[in-house]
Amino acid sequence: MAYRTLDGVDVAGKRVLLRADLNVPVRDGKITDLTRIERLSPTIRELSGKGARVIVSSHFERPKGRRVRELSLAPMAAALGEVLGRRVRFAEDCVGVVAQQAVERMQPGDVLVLENTRYHPGEERNDPACASEMAKLAEIYVNDAFSAAHRAHASTEGVAHLLPAYAGRLMQAELEALEAALGNPERPVAAIVGGAKVSTKLELLGNLSRKVDVLVIGGAMANTFLAAQGVPVGKSLQEADMHDTAREIMAGATQAGCEIVLPGDAVVAFEFKPNPPTQTVAIDAVPDEAMILDVGPATVRGLVGRLGSFKTLVWNGPLGAFEVPPFEVSTVALARAVAASTEAGHLRSVAGGGDTVAALRQAGVLDRLTYVSSAGGAFLEWLEGKTLPGVAALG
Ligand code: ADP
Ligand code: MG
Repeated sequence: MAYRTLDGVDVAGKRVLLRADLNVPVRDGKITDLTRIERLSPTIRELSGKGARVIVSSHFERPKGRRVRELSLAPMAAALGEVLGRRVRFAEDCVGVVAQQAVERMQPGDVLVLENTRYHPGEERNDPACASEMAKLAEIYVNDAFSAAHRAHASTEGVAHLLPAYAGRLMQAELEALEAALGNPERPVAAIVGGAKVSTKLELLGNLSRKVDVLVIGGAMANTFLAAQGVPVGKSLQEADMHDTAREIMAGATQAGCEIVLPGDAVVAFEFKPNPPTQTVAIDAVPDEAMILDVGPATVRGLVGRLGSFKTLVWNGPLGAFEVPPFEVSTVALARAVAASTEAGHLRSVAGGGDTVAALRQAGVLDRLTYVSSAGGAFLEWLEGKTLPGVAALG
């Protein structure tokens, strides 16, 4: 994946359109997590410090091409100002006269946030007219929104073809971490894939099994693999129509020289609710009426014991139903062991996925792995081996 970075780009006095991801979590009108804004700030500080006029654009949720007051980016502009510790202006549109006039008033070093790009139907359609309206605002385009790069929209892809286009520092960091984890990793490289369904992660499993040396399958999706091998999984969540697929993935992995590791024991319960009575059983001894809700302690010990032999680890998907206690136990234990191996310097660890990030936060290790991607869907598509249009446009 070739892309241009900001190294050596002269931005002094220039108008720079910076595609950011200000699609932050909001509850009752209040921003609940500033992580995305904090991660974005180095790029803005760098551009502004070099005398650029920094014009920030982003989408927020799904206004579907209409102006929806509640989905304004005005609160994110204020939050960005607080994080940067400086004045950040806001324009009530991302294109047209309103945006142009706000840009004209900018001085070198100023930061302006534009209104939600998805207020315009042309954004998601990647309408060339919409992209060219955006391009009119600036002389340089910088994309720092890896998390939106899997969508070919006007602000992520269309506009990148109309201006000199570069990856921002956050985009660059994400791409470098991913490249080091899977593009050109130090081996042996292992992947842990968990979560609920095989059907949502088919391409991901296929791609990983061709690239990694060891593929560990946990979570409810392991149930499908176990059932496909004739191991009874009782009342566990599993996908009966995915058994052939699971067997194909396993055969493909074997052919590619990838070892597949399935759980050897499990924590089961007869009801899916917080703190029910549980049993730990060998994987071939799951009672008919029971559900597998977490991998067992022997499985975790086995994985932790092997961490020292891996150089690189990619992780997506919790090992158990971590939202419901005590079925977070294995995920949390493994997360802490991965963090310790990473800190000891013998493991490069990269993780991502919405629920995975939540589980790592719960384990208190969010900033103790080599890289945790907050990119959600874009991270998953990258794990699937897809070319992300927003990244391709920077090459
Ligand atoms: P991510 O968002 O990180 O990509 P997924 O969405 O694929 O991860 O998977 C997370 C979901 O999988 C969680 O809601 C979790 O409760 C569920 N899950 C994992 N293991 C089990 C299990 N054994 N039984 C039921 N649900 C499970
Ligand atoms: Mg999820």
